[in-house]
Amino acid sequence: MKKKKFDSFDVAVIGGGAAGLTAAIFAAREGATVVVLEKNSRVGKKILITGSGRCNLSNITLDYDWQLMFRPEIKKQVLRGVQSSKFLVDLSHYYTSSYISDIKNSPANYDNALIEHIFSETLTAKEFFKQLGLKTIIDEDGRMYPHSSSAVSVLDALRLECAKLGVVENVSYFVDTIEGRDGEFYITPVDGSPAEKKVTRVKKMIIATGAPSHVANNTVNALTSNYTDDSGGFSALKFAASVGVKTTPFYPVLCPVKTDKKLALPVKGLRVRADCRILNGNRALLSEIGEVQFGDDYLSGVCIMNLSRYISDEYVKSVSVARKNGGDVSDYFGTPEISLDLTPDFSLYTLKKELTAIATIRESVKLEEFLTGLFNKRVGNEILKTAIPDVKLNTIVNTLTEHQLSEIADVIKDWRFPIYGVHSWDMAQAAGGGVLLSELNRDLQARSSNGVYFVGEAVDIHGDCGGYNLSWAWVSGETAGRAAGKAVIEGIEPSQELHDLIDQKNM
Ligand SMILES: Cc1cc2nc3c(=O)[nH]c(=O)nc-3n(C[C@H](O)[C@H](O)[C@H](O)COP(=O)(O)OP(=O)(O)OC[C@H]3O[C@@H](n4cnc5c(N)ncnc54)[C@H](O)[C@@H]3O)c2cc1C
Repeated sequence: MKKKKFDSFDVAVIGGGAAGLTAAIFAAREGATVVVLEKNSRVGKKILITGSGRCNLSNITLDYDWQLMFRPEIKKQVLRGVQSSKFLVDLSHYYTSSYISDIKNSPANYDNALIEHIFSETLTAKEFFKQLGLKTIIDEDGRMYPHSSSAVSVLDALRLECAKLGVVENVSYFVDTIEGRDGEFYITPVDGSPAEKKVTRVKKMIIATGAPSHVANNTVNALTSNYTDDSGGFSALKFAASVGVKTTPFYPVLCPVKTDKKLALPVKGLRVRADCRILNGNRALLSEIGEVQFGDDYLSGVCIMNLSRYISDEYVKSVSVARKNGGDVSDYFGTPEISLDLTPDFSLYTLKKELTAIATIRESVKLEEFLTGLFNKRVGNEILKTAIPDVKLNTIVNTLTEHQLSEIADVIKDWRFPIYGVHSWDMAQAAGGGVLLSELNRDLQARSSNGVYFVGEAVDIHGDCGGYNLSWAWVSGETAGRAAGKAVIEGIEPSQELHDLIDQKNM
């Protein structure tokens, strides 16, 4: 008998991460035969490390049911017909590389019209996972997690649904090339793949290869786009180019911010709650309150990660200006700093009064114990060393002058760390850049190439920490999966022109 040269399916999903598995489910629900081609030996590896192993799978701000329940002013608008309930989701936590400001408040453009459209047409994460038998819970900050508090159960739920629908998982299949011929696509694995890894022939292709975030030991210099693709993280750019779709280089976002090792190392491993501000000179550019973690040469934590996007954006701009005009990146990057206010709940005046009271209570103890209780001892001592560098820590507290107390209070309210850039891919939780939204139709199908869809982190949209990135993976996977499945089974090709979407938004 002649051996089959190809494995044939209706739809191939390249990349078995959060977006790819979701796309596979929705395509298969339409009745399409679906294969997931995954380069790793198992699918969904990244899902397992999300939310520190708990998987923060969405956020309350994206759940219109919740908004209706707890925001009476909005419920009234919906009841009066002023507002459609599906448009209640808060998209201000999403960004594209062309709109660094939040999408909701940007002028009407294709990117935000498309994103709004996608969120309004898809299931909420709560609904989606309910369909998969996974119960979700919300924490006090509005973050959604699986009830089990385990990322494993999120992956299990997705895989069980894929199995139920007959989705084929073809793992250790590192896609090298994609080629369109006679209305079909031929997908070839890298040279040296086992013989049973045949060329895959499909009618539709969903590219869900993610981005290089959290690629360990990756030596790529993504900011200058010099990369090798042994990680698979850059596959989306390569595949997009091969089907004539425009992209913008990936750059790391949501990453720890590099600082002076001398300042961070002594408090390594500790956490503080602070109002974090990014300063340029003495001008505060942005701020966010939250927990800050200290690493050996970096600051981390949710608020720092969120602020890091602006730093990497500035850094990317500086790299390109330096390339154009010559000189060093640092000539253009400036000298930004992070300022931590360690007592955001009270004013400088109140803090000074508190310190004076503590100084009276602890008048006979050594200075190294002075701030104990207000902060971890190591943090307290670093504050003292910064504020009053000439005073030894074994000095007795009652020798402190009013001026010195005032200097300590100043540092507590404004502890400065120079910014030396951001940590790169190995520590990044998301990527900016990727396939430009303007290249995609409302179903995330490439405008230039019928039958090729892009989803998840491969697309130029990223969100803040808090469940927004996985939410995009679910909704983009649903959109493209459903559309690809429908196109194969019913021959329906939903596509709407750019200006229609913008018109809709501006109505
Ligand atoms: C440490 C960490 C914690 C995070 N925590 C959260 C969180 O709690 N909440 C949240 O919302 N977001 C979180 N994120 C972000 C979130 O994980 C991503 O946004 C999301 O996983 C992206 O999904 P994706 O399917 O697009 O890409 P991925 O999950 O990266 O999947 C892409 C898949 O494609 C495969 N692939 C790549 N190239 C090829 C190829 N050529 N051939 C075959 N297969 C290929 C890869 O092996 C991979 O399995 C976190 C990220 C990190 C790194």
